[in-house]
Amino acid sequence: MDMHSQKHKKSLIRVLFIASEAEPFVKVGGLGDIAGSLPRAIQKLSHESAAETRIDIRLCIPFYKSISLPLETLSFIGKLEIPKLHGSVRGEVYSTKIEGVIVYLIKSPVISNDPKIYNQDTRKDGQKFVFFSLACLELTKVLGWNPDILHANDWHTALAVYMLGTLRREGKFYRNSHSLITLHNLPFMGAGTEKAMKEFLVPAISTDELPGWACYQPLPMGLFFADAIVPVSPQYAKELLTPEYGYELSSYFHKFKSKMIGILNGLDYSLWNPEQDACIPSKFSLSTLEARKNNKSELLKEFSFPEIPDIPLLIMISRMDQQKGIELALEGLRNLADQKWQAIILGSGDPMLEQKARLLQTDLPEKVRVALRYDSTLAHRMYAGGDILLMPSLYEPCGLSQMIAMHYACIPIARATGGLLDTILKTTEERIGTGFLFTGKTSEAFAKELLYALRIFHQPSIWKRIQKKAMQKDFSWQKSAIEYINLYERLMENKP
Ligand code: ADP
Repeated sequence: MDMHSQKHKKSLIRVLFIASEAEPFVKVGGLGDIAGSLPRAIQKLSHESAAETRIDIRLCIPFYKSISLPLETLSFIGKLEIPKLHGSVRGEVYSTKIEGVIVYLIKSPVISNDPKIYNQDTRKDGQKFVFFSLACLELTKVLGWNPDILHANDWHTALAVYMLGTLRREGKFYRNSHSLITLHNLPFMGAGTEKAMKEFLVPAISTDELPGWACYQPLPMGLFFADAIVPVSPQYAKELLTPEYGYELSSYFHKFKSKMIGILNGLDYSLWNPEQDACIPSKFSLSTLEARKNNKSELLKEFSFPEIPDIPLLIMISRMDQQKGIELALEGLRNLADQKWQAIILGSGDPMLEQKARLLQTDLPEKVRVALRYDSTLAHRMYAGGDILLMPSLYEPCGLSQMIAMHYACIPIARATGGLLDTILKTTEERIGTGFLFTGKTSEAFAKELLYALRIFHQPSIWKRIQKKAMQKDFSWQKSAIEYINLYERLMENKP
């Protein structure tokens, strides 16, 4: 090799990115969007850029029963076996490729016997995700491909990081493997999986750094050994240091602040682009905002709403979960029943919240429509035709809906927390922002901000400026991908 080519040879970082869901294979929530997009964005950037480092990032997800892929697109990679207290559980690994990223799918009866991706009762998910986490590590052995970085996401895959932490002390294979966990939602720690961990011979941690209960829960166990913890927004990273958001782990986060770095998620512009969105009646751009009017009319027709000029259409697209502040919104809307607005609420989840949404529709039939289901194409039509997105989350690690909404010129009104605070520029009397933010946790605080937004809505020239500013915000994955690559490089500088 001559000097010239040697100088330009890129160093290689091998990353195994593991997650419980990833688009386009399986998506339940935001994690699916992220695990689908981020590896592709990192791979693309590393191929295109002149940077010294090349990233070989591969994705690994469970092969759920609901994933149906044409056989000819799959390659059989090999078999694996994970020991258990009594016997073992076998699995098979298949691979496919998507936009240049190798994707491994791990198949096993433990995974495919459960028709659900997630169960309300985490105990039912224990076997599946404990097995999957261990199988991800085993996979690297089957491949003879030891990752430089094991990149896990949330509790479902955190045990892989934990086991890596114990194994790399012992053996050669993982000696140089670093680990990181992207933290999408702290309160879901995997409680209830203790029995499954015992069955799969996963030992508890013995440490004074974590509260006793956390020493046998997958997420804290993984966080303990992770070389880096990445909350999905800088603001969420700060909030985790407080007992309100970090719960009993806040003092652990405080102590290990140096390994925490908040990185915002991006938006997949190939899926969310109002100029090319095949799901919406009228495509539009910054310069053709007027076309949104037709999207709104169609949406109003679809929901049998009378079309009355100048009435703002409020939308809510959300999991029905306490986290999302659904009750704040429902109560706040009820309190503003004398104002002019119409609202469409799309969401499913907690039956009690669904019932409350239904009740609001019954009580305010002129104003409210609810669609209690998961409906991806309807979500597109709503972002493209709605005027205001309601997102009063009690906590929001990052949030995608507000980014999608802004990109579609639908203006968010949100609680000033986590990623909502990092992505929405608050509109005030003095400043044109990209949305509206409120701080309290009451329906009154929400209603007050909504009233303000409704007042601004009736000043069309200001409203249009807000819409344009919102559409121009850069939420591309490229930004986050650069930050992740920088983090991988920094991790590689230290010995694990
Ligand atoms: P989370 O991941 O906490 O559910 P995010 O705002 O990060 O919240 O991401 C939610 C994603 O799921 C967005 O793409 C949103 O449009 C979509 N979504 C949520 N509920 C529904 C629904 N009922 N139908 C269609 N899409 C939905």
